[in-house]
Amino acid sequence: MSSSAHDEVVQFTSELIRFDTSNFGPGQDQPGERDVAEYVAATLDEVGIAAQLLESEPRRTTVVASWAPPGVDPSLPPLLIHGHTDVVPAQADQWSVDPFSGEIRDGCVWGRGAVDMKDFDAIVLAIVRDRVRTGRAPRRPIRLVFTADEEAGGPLGSVWLARHHPDLIADCTQAVGEVGGFSLTVAGRRMYVIQTAEKGLAWLRLIAEGTAGHGSMRDDDNAVTQLAQAVADLGAYHWPTKLHPAQRAFLDSVSEALGLPMELDDVEQTLAQLGSIARMAGATMSHTVNPTMLQAGYKANVIPGVAEATVDGRYIPGARAEFLETVRQVIGDKVRMEILHEQPGVEAPWGTPLTDAMTAAIRQYDPQATTTPFLMSAGTDAKAWCELGIQCYGFTPLQLPSDFDFVGLFHGVDERVPIESLRFAVDVFDHFLDLA
Ligand SMILES: [Zn+2]
Repeated sequence: MSSSAHDEVVQFTSELIRFDTSNFGPGQDQPGERDVAEYVAATLDEVGIAAQLLESEPRRTTVVASWAPPGVDPSLPPLLIHGHTDVVPAQADQWSVDPFSGEIRDGCVWGRGAVDMKDFDAIVLAIVRDRVRTGRAPRRPIRLVFTADEEAGGPLGSVWLARHHPDLIADCTQAVGEVGGFSLTVAGRRMYVIQTAEKGLAWLRLIAEGTAGHGSMRDDDNAVTQLAQAVADLGAYHWPTKLHPAQRAFLDSVSEALGLPMELDDVEQTLAQLGSIARMAGATMSHTVNPTMLQAGYKANVIPGVAEATVDGRYIPGARAEFLETVRQVIGDKVRMEILHEQPGVEAPWGTPLTDAMTAAIRQYDPQATTTPFLMSAGTDAKAWCELGIQCYGFTPLQLPSDFDFVGLFHGVDERVPIESLRFAVDVFDHFLDLA
């Protein structure tokens, strides 16, 4: 790896952060990804890679480029490498630096998007440019996609692209993007967690319909009372542990690293020794539901005929039907349930040539490292690609300091990424392209 990629990855991370691509969600005024998309396209164009800019709405821009230089094996299907260019908003007054400065301080690049996920966008750009300049082809053809709107679930980015331009990506069989690949230090040993699965998402509306009337009367059919009961029962419901194979493999790796047998009855105890990852791993031990919104009534002395709640449900991949049936049972028969929005669970196999290539690439630069699959609680653009039958992995191989609260920086205050971690990722991911 030449030093130019090590320099460019820092420069690109910083410059990408300076584009304010805050995503405020549907219907809100927002800057969009047009400017950053033009920057990405120009950065690729400088080394002769032509990129296509596609817009789902004005300024909501996704970049697609094919990179298949002489030397790739054209008989292999392309590998999809994807990153999103939008970020969640930042409240500047809570930060130590301007969140859109891309400031370099204390060995880190600071700003919104430093870990989610302008870092990976910069890693990919730096590697591709270095390989073009030095005439090093990847093993197989590469499809590069830089999406808009991931932070709102992708309706104007990945989901839109998969629906309206499937031909641009459907020939890819496997995809690599966020969030996995980073190192956790467990009992002094580095373990790199590669994301092979994501929970499914089901946003639900609970609706209670009762008898409307005067607030001074007796009412045994009060919609607010019925809804409140169902919401309380559902929110307090104790979901039994349900281990997905990826989660079990992760827990086995952790228990081996700790030298402790994993007691499935007392997994909390083992998780407690994991530091910042415990919160994330804890959320993937079972289905989860969280009531998030309530709506009913318009006046103190009027009993409303309808009351509604919104619930954020996340289910273990492969167990959608069981999850929804349990919700129905818990809320009872006086409250109806509708599915407001849904995204599928994601699952990809472990122990394949592609995941072996990830492990080998990491070991090339961290020989003592171990790797493990894991199940993520939140969603990424992978959900859109997997609907096209593409196997999706989270592999952004950052080697992190042992005390670095990486997971806590996602959507967090003072988001930042160590420069040494970026350079390590460039080395590993570059080598991965020889093996993948
Ligand atoms: Zn992200």
